Amino acid sequence: EQNHRESLMIVSGFAAKFFHESLLDTDEGQSIGLSYFKERGFNSETIKKFELGYSPDQWEAFTGEAIKQGYKEEFLVESGLSVKRDNGSIYDRYRGRVMFPIHSFTGRVIAFGGRTLKSDKNVPKYVNSPESDIYHKSNVLYGLYFAKRAIREEDNCYLVEGYADVISVHQAGIENVVASSGTSLTVEQIRLIGRLTKNITILYDGDAAGIKASLRGLDMILEEGLNVKVVLFPDGHDPDSFVQKFGTNAFKTHVDKNKKDFILYKTEILLKDVGNDPIKKAEVIREIVESIAKIPDSIKASVFLKECSNRLQIDERALLSELNKMRQAKA
Ligand code: ATP
Ligand code: MN
Ligand code: MN
Ligand code: MN
Repeated sequence: EQNHRESLMIVSGFAAKFFHESLLDTDEGQSIGLSYFKERGFNSETIKKFELGYSPDQWEAFTGEAIKQGYKEEFLVESGLSVKRDNGSIYDRYRGRVMFPIHSFTGRVIAFGGRTLKSDKNVPKYVNSPESDIYHKSNVLYGLYFAKRAIREEDNCYLVEGYADVISVHQAGIENVVASSGTSLTVEQIRLIGRLTKNITILYDGDAAGIKASLRGLDMILEEGLNVKVVLFPDGHDPDSFVQKFGTNAFKTHVDKNKKDFILYKTEILLKDVGNDPIKKAEVIREIVESIAKIPDSIKASVFLKECSNRLQIDERALLSELNKMRQAKA
């Protein structure tokens, strides 16, 4: 209930402040965390705006301070900031990690992502808060609080994969950017964006995982009645690394030049390994029509169908009869 949620948000806010201060005001935080962020190209203003932090590499640095200040164990454990041992004692979940607080739509801290600074393959790169009464990860988009005004103004939302992508792209002056961090894109997340704009541009990593995730996301966005474009980054790059390496102008140029509507994108991706095989080509066409069949607005759907017919040199009537079959199967 309300008091319970409020207590969880208060302890999360305290934690954000604790991690932020330990980043800026302690020797360990400065020499390990702050220098890491600076090396990644995050400036002081950005670090402050996103309340980035550092969790000391000790077992009870945070938990001890929180208990000392009167925060209740119950809320420390439920928020996931502290973890309970079998013997009942509690310790810090985040140790020696750089911290990304996750904000609610109204700017309250509700969860954290903590990134390791080790390159050890056995250590998970990110540790995220567990689900709680204030954090349902499928309903949250990282960066939305900082992006919502720009999303409305630009009437477009850039969707990226990770925390660092949001921060670097935002710092570059492109503020209408959010990430579905820690989960694959959900219908709830798409609806959150849909209240601000009907236009989503997917900017995913240029690796196999990113391409796969983009195709999944694309169909879900179409089903929700939103417009979607996709931009891929060169393999090995993500929006963060690209904008940090090449700068804001090159980033904007890349996005403008490589922005593809979903038919062109799907066609290109899927036709890559088709060659001249007509059976495989038919499969690809069917998949594209399947996406079109998901568009609720039938006028929009028929415009895309015509586009598909032109691009793939397939008789529009054949596509239409396939589309109708799929629609009937769904109904
Ligand atoms: P960085 O640039 O710091 O290496 P990234 O954001 O590029 O991080 P990716 O591997 O591309 O990292 O992952 C994208 C996002 O997926 C991350 O930002 C994080 O939210 C989530 N993620 C990645 N690895 C894990 C993990 N081991 N556990 C939970 N979430 C993860
Ligand atoms: Mn990736
Ligand atoms: Mn990255
Ligand atoms: Mn990435």
